[in-house]
Amino acid sequence: MAKRDFYEVLGAARGASADELKKAYRSKAKELHPDRNSDNPKAEEQFKEVNAAYEVLKDAEKKAAYDRYGHAAFEGGMGGPRGGQPGANGDFASAFSDVFEDLFGDFMGGQRGGGGRSRAQRGSDLRYNLRVTLEEAFAGIQKTINVPASVACESCRGSGAEGGAEPVTCPTCSGMGKVRAQQGFFTVERTCPTCNGMGQTIKNPCKKCAGAGRVEQDRALSVNIPAGVETGTRIRLAGEGEAGLRGGPSGDLYIFIEVREHAIFQRDGTHLFCRVPVTMATAALGGEVEVPTIDGGKSRVKVPGGSQTGKQMRLRSKGMPALRGGGVGDMLIELAVETPVNLTSKQKELLREFEKLSEDNNPEGQTFFSKVRTFWDGMKG
Ligand SMILES: [Zn+2]
Ligand SMILES: [Zn+2]
Repeated sequence: MAKRDFYEVLGAARGASADELKKAYRSKAKELHPDRNSDNPKAEEQFKEVNAAYEVLKDAEKKAAYDRYGHAAFEGGMGGPRGGQPGANGDFASAFSDVFEDLFGDFMGGQRGGGGRSRAQRGSDLRYNLRVTLEEAFAGIQKTINVPASVACESCRGSGAEGGAEPVTCPTCSGMGKVRAQQGFFTVERTCPTCNGMGQTIKNPCKKCAGAGRVEQDRALSVNIPAGVETGTRIRLAGEGEAGLRGGPSGDLYIFIEVREHAIFQRDGTHLFCRVPVTMATAALGGEVEVPTIDGGKSRVKVPGGSQTGKQMRLRSKGMPALRGGGVGDMLIELAVETPVNLTSKQKELLREFEKLSEDNNPEGQTFFSKVRTFWDGMKG
């Protein structure tokens, strides 16, 4: 999309004065403000455009550069507007927060330039760390969690005023949120002690929440953990975070998943890895072993005769499901041949006999051990 001329965007004439530009910007920003244009999907884009244009034109230096070179003045990373074009990264909130601050008062009823914050305030986002087992990550699970959170006060419906009455402009600071005090030769500005900078006070604070508009309360929340989650998976529950202040929207709740270590399975993406012990006899003669699977069942695996420790086999589709569909991983098993221990005298006797037979049965370098033996015999001779 070609960039529109900044003056055209603001609906101002080239050569307009700073005051005229400010006026033009305010009227455009009001017209396009997202709160008033929920039914116009283009408004947000245009609102960002207006902010981007004013970000440049309100600054004498940037304006001069723009007047001279046009958009080229801010391309190639040289001398561009601070932090790039607002909204270029898709972060809408930050796009208008700086420029919008001094306008906000106008919309909220005349606290202009006072630094008094708008009375409605979005609640904070909350993070909840949830540990699940590998089995739960495999199957998915419904979990009930207790979220310590402040929620909107029911008694005043979040307004902070008894009976839901509207707050009034703070008498101490006249809604500015700040007060001036003489200190020696200097005049200092302080946050208003009466309203704590909010610019408004409540005549009859709600008794239940003491005027805060929210109360601390543990909430039981049922969370659906989908199959395939991994450590680091984040689940966002919109609007389940901290309640907003004085009727503001709630924040979001983020659930951070941590999958516990498993006693026998190691996970690598959707694949599972498992070391399976086999007896010396099974490894030598061949046979079957039973392998536990993550779904709680068992699979029988054929062990070929003469298997060595480290031999790997793959059980298709016995791994973990992918989080957003796309199939199931495999289970890789690795054999570990067990040396028998606590032998009876009969077993010892048989093994000695076995050893003797092995010497006669020249194995022709069939195993690693026989290769080593051949090597040493060669050294001696
Ligand atoms: Zn209340
Ligand atoms: Zn005040």
